[in-house]
Amino acid sequence: MTAVQNMPSRDPGQDAACRSGQLIRERGQHEVFCGLTSIMWLHRKMQDAFFLVVGSRTCAHLIQSAAGVMIFSEPRFATAIMEERDLAGMADMHDELDRVVEELLQRRPDIRMLVLVGSCPSEVIKLDLSRAAERLNRRLAPRHRVLSYSGSGIETTFTQGEDNFLAALVADSGAQPTQAPPASLIIAGCLADVVEDQFGRLFRDLGIADVAFLPSRSSEALPAIGPDTRYILAQPYLGATAAALEARGAKRIDALFPLGEEGTTAWLKAIADSFGVAPALFNRITEAPRQRALSAMAHYRPWLEGRKIFLFPDSQLEVPLARFLYREAGARIVEAGSPYLHREHLAGELALLPDDAALSEGQDVDRQIDRCLAADPDLIVCGMGLANPFEAEGHVTKWSIEFAFTPIQGYEQAGDLAELFARPLMRDVILSGTRR
Ligand code: SF4
Repeated sequence: MTAVQNMPSRDPGQDAACRSGQLIRERGQHEVFCGLTSIMWLHRKMQDAFFLVVGSRTCAHLIQSAAGVMIFSEPRFATAIMEERDLAGMADMHDELDRVVEELLQRRPDIRMLVLVGSCPSEVIKLDLSRAAERLNRRLAPRHRVLSYSGSGIETTFTQGEDNFLAALVADSGAQPTQAPPASLIIAGCLADVVEDQFGRLFRDLGIADVAFLPSRSSEALPAIGPDTRYILAQPYLGATAAALEARGAKRIDALFPLGEEGTTAWLKAIADSFGVAPALFNRITEAPRQRALSAMAHYRPWLEGRKIFLFPDSQLEVPLARFLYREAGARIVEAGSPYLHREHLAGELALLPDDAALSEGQDVDRQIDRCLAADPDLIVCGMGLANPFEAEGHVTKWSIEFAFTPIQGYEQAGDLAELFARPLMRDVILSGTRR
């Protein structure tokens, strides 16, 4: 299901669009997937976790259709469907949830971490899942750990589901008795295993030890955090996670995000500088992968150079993607929209956007569609709900959710990232027989 609702206004004085410089702030209807969607990549990352959505049949449909291409004999997510008698208060929801959890764990004793995921319906009836997780933990720990977070579409976009989950993991790790020494560096943000392995090798070659990834592949490998722990964001949508890490004493390393050759080099250099790695060693270790990234991207640059691109707000990856398109692929950015702009985390990225690119935060979808059509871009990056109507009108589109599902971070993926943008333009030439 695509969540369609009115965005909560953070500034009641501004109702529709209000420009300050190149910034457009909007508080109208927006169209993005809800936070439940992030379960699709989180369950693949943490292989001993099980995500139990406490929601309605609508939530179950979303999860099933989002996972439609993935057939598992034993999936690691499910929906505890709240029936009418639950919603009407005729059943004790906590008893019902305990019963569902008990049945699940009897059938799947291999589950090490059970994650209760809140939804719009569970929030509307004020079902307190953190209290449920505490109660279940008292009964089930240490064999199973139970935690909770909200994936509701009332307040969140789909990548904020990951943010809420990681913040819950950080809070939970603080509550666990741990013997492990604190990590020196935490990479925060879900990365595909292949990307994690590549970064892991680079850190080893740079002599940076005790690096942990959040989330880890196993619920038992969650990093310990201490006052000497530094962290860096690998994804731009992790405001709650950053706050949770800092509340535990970790210090943030500020950097661009690791998209493209420039972004990856800047991200790694910020880490290297923070750990006192000699510049000569840094250059020696990164030289070959930098060249591979540049040559892989060069193949797609002719397809993107000078092309007008409009990015609708969807994943919160839009600002770093726009920086990549402009700086490394030579594209023209008409507008880069983001559901929320974390100005501190995005400061370096924003400084590199071209002066003539509009930047928008929030959404008033009809106004934004009008701006997009007036600009007549060569490529529109947007959610699925908008892409089909745009395609039907002859525009070339790219689904923004693909940037959340596809490994795009790091040197070896720089060419794949450029290809994701170039492919619909190439397809358009094949179908129409001409380049616009
Ligand atoms: Fe729809 Fe809300 Fe359930 Fe998401 S959490 S599927 S927006 S009802």
